[in-house]
Amino acid sequence: MPGPAQKTGVVVGGGISGLIAARDLARTGVAVTLFEAGTELGGCVGTHSVAGLTLDSGAESFATRSRAVPDLMEELGLGDAIVQPNRDGAWLQLAGDDVAAAAQRMPQSGLLGIPADPRAPEIVQAIGRAGSARAALDKVLPVGSLVRRETVSLGEVVRARMGEAVLRRLVAPVVGGVYSSDPDVLDVDSVAPGLRAALAKHGSLSGAVASMRASAPAGSAVAGLAGGMGMLTRALEKDLLALGVNIRTGCPVTAVERSGSGWLVSAAAGAAPVEETVFADALVMATDGPSASDLLTGSVPELAAARPGPGPGVALVTLVVDQPDLDAHPRGTGVLVAADVEAVDAKALTHATAKWQWLADSTGPGTHVLRLSYGRALSAEDSAAAARTSPVKRGDEDLFAQALADASVLLQIPLGVDDVVGWDVVRWVGALPSAAVGHHDRVAAVRAAVEAVPGLEVVGAWLAGTGLAAVTADTRTRIAGLADQLDQL
Ligand SMILES: Cc1cc2nc3c(=O)[nH]c(=O)nc-3n(C[C@H](O)[C@H](O)[C@H](O)COP(=O)(O)OP(=O)(O)OC[C@H]3O[C@@H](n4cnc5c(N)ncnc54)[C@H](O)[C@@H]3O)c2cc1C
Repeated sequence: MPGPAQKTGVVVGGGISGLIAARDLARTGVAVTLFEAGTELGGCVGTHSVAGLTLDSGAESFATRSRAVPDLMEELGLGDAIVQPNRDGAWLQLAGDDVAAAAQRMPQSGLLGIPADPRAPEIVQAIGRAGSARAALDKVLPVGSLVRRETVSLGEVVRARMGEAVLRRLVAPVVGGVYSSDPDVLDVDSVAPGLRAALAKHGSLSGAVASMRASAPAGSAVAGLAGGMGMLTRALEKDLLALGVNIRTGCPVTAVERSGSGWLVSAAAGAAPVEETVFADALVMATDGPSASDLLTGSVPELAAARPGPGPGVALVTLVVDQPDLDAHPRGTGVLVAADVEAVDAKALTHATAKWQWLADSTGPGTHVLRLSYGRALSAEDSAAAARTSPVKRGDEDLFAQALADASVLLQIPLGVDDVVGWDVVRWVGALPSAAVGHHDRVAAVRAAVEAVPGLEVVGAWLAGTGLAAVTADTRTRIAGLADQLDQL
């Protein structure tokens, strides 16, 4: 129970943003209750058990372009567990009659697959001489309206500057892997903040990419935790319990309303058909975008117009296989697949035991963990056609058979049912936020509306951007602001 003068806070959502928000708020002396709809904490940073191994079911790494995640991990005592992925890097599978000949190492010097030098040999290998010559026109074409227009898709920027080959053969496979979306759907300012400003400054897209790459920290772009990213969720949970946070899993929040200078928050109380209502001086919404908008529109009407659409649905198939031929890591840490590769349905394959040494150590030689992902948000015309085959609607057995066939093609090593020692399908529906064109402006509108309401903060990937680095940095900044506000009450 909070003391008589103690401020109270409610955090809605127990994904990584909600856990961080609850922790940072509790550390300032606020009595915090956290409601999570699901039975487990962590949201996209969850775990599952396959063939006796505890594996990440969603996020399995974090970007190291900022110190946000490593600093948090050090605070939580996880600093020594931070590990780099195997340096082998990933491969790119392009379309071609000869699947093996159409695979190559993923060029490293780009941003979301956009090359800093379209004449580099590995880029010419991927897009051909004609594609490279077209991409090089970027250096001489006038910048034009691309930098002035209010909203532009990533696809439009890349197509206009560098042509179709760069877009389809380099950029689409990368953004398909990260955002599960087609580049024509994505808002360039949301997924590549600063790119249009750099384009205006340098006069070319390749110059913009080169300058942004130069200012990124040296070394590997991502890191992980020995033991998996699920350790971050567990460490945050342990810290919340030590801080006295009241953690309520299995309790979806059903309504929030303003009450004096604070908030009344109603949640379904577990399996019982009763609702519980608590008062809080401060409210933090840390859910997906549609849920936050729906819960808040009664108190912040401006959010109705800024409600985002649901994000893409993704299905992940994890295979644990006994196949010593995979010890040679035939495709490095995994493969990103171009959308027009007809022999394969998966958009990406992660060879997890090739990527993470700690995992290879725990399986031993000959046993491998492969994770294949299915599904990407398409442009309006393509999505109508694809709706019938949505990966999240396909049955488990169907996806398992598909994954086994796709892994055999991508790795060029036949894998049969008898090689499989365990498998699982995890579906993420709406967990990746929509970053569709216009998203950048929507985020600005939400931020402005929320700022005008005292005692309220809204965090999470739908506003901060996909990925643990973005979510962690943004949540911590915003909760520090909220704590300052509470101090002044
Ligand atoms: C398959 C997958 C792989 C990924 N891989 C990576 C990666 O390798 N590296 C990386 O940096 N990022 C990765 N990401 C992205 C990253 O995981 C997310 O950006 C981040 O975890 C989002 O955190 P969040 O707290 O904003 O949202 P979420 O994790 O979605 O959490 C939101 C929580 O709110 C809860 N909730 C919703 N409504 C209510 C309600 N009414 N009441 C109570 N609770 C509610 C939900 O149940 C959920 O637990 C991946 C994402 C996915 C889906």
